[in-house]
Amino acid sequence: MIELEAVRKTYETGIVRVDALRGVDAEIAEGEYVAVIGPSGSGKSTLMHILGCLDVPTSGSYHLAGQDVSAMTEAELAEVRNRRIGFVFQQFNLLASMPAWRNVELPLVYAGVSRPERRERALAALERVGLADRADHKPGELSGGQQQRVAVARALVTEPALLLADEPTGNLDSESTVDVLNLFDELSRLGRTIVLITHEHDVAARASRRLVVRDGNIMTAGAA
Ligand code: ADP
Ligand code: ADP
Repeated sequence: MIELEAVRKTYETGIVRVDALRGVDAEIAEGEYVAVIGPSGSGKSTLMHILGCLDVPTSGSYHLAGQDVSAMTEAELAEVRNRRIGFVFQQFNLLASMPAWRNVELPLVYAGVSRPERRERALAALERVGLADRADHKPGELSGGQQQRVAVARALVTEPALLLADEPTGNLDSESTVDVLNLFDELSRLGRTIVLITHEHDVAARASRRLVVRDGNIMTAGAA
């Protein structure tokens, strides 16, 4: 599903050069649930941006679902992001004025799906995250954990190849954190490919494999 080969990312700002990734090799199979963990400044966000096709490597290659995305144009990358990847962020990024189901259907609006099909698929996605009875609630009427589950439903509504979660529990209390991590467990059991970026060890421990990033390299790939 995911193949990174000798991926390097160098940021140059004026005379300052930072090697954020220094030749990363990694493979993630379809259906795997992998946590990317490492201290602040280790290169996790850079790796997340590359995995999410928000940025391209300076050198090296990245194959996602059989496609070489490292050589794509910005327009092609946008297409891959919209069709292949479901994003979940620390901030839920929900529109406050819209009920949950309208938030969830948004990616389908951009994909040109018809209105009745959008509603049907949004409701089905909310059911999958256990929020069928909250479809008409606005974000402000939901707990943090429930808002993040709405964001997960929005990420899944396009049936992406990859669910990419960047510190998804970073804004949640411990109860909501467990709630969201239980949902990821369930999605994983159902065969979703999940990459979860975190700096928290107990969050990473829930994945079936961990990629440890340190100083721009992947140090170990430990099985559960
Ligand atoms: P993490 O997410 O693990 O905190 P990052 O990927 O954000 O790590 O950062 C890795 C390194 O790259 C750090 O030294 C950081 O300062 C640097 N870096 C990240 N983004 C940029 C950028 N846009 N411009 C310059 N340096 C950057
Ligand atoms: P942080 O980890 O600093 O709290 P976020 O997790 O919200 O920030 O976002 C991480 C990165 O992903 C940011 O660089 C941001 O530009 C990008 N990003 C955030 N939200 C979206 C979005 N809805 N679509 C695409 N990219 C996003």
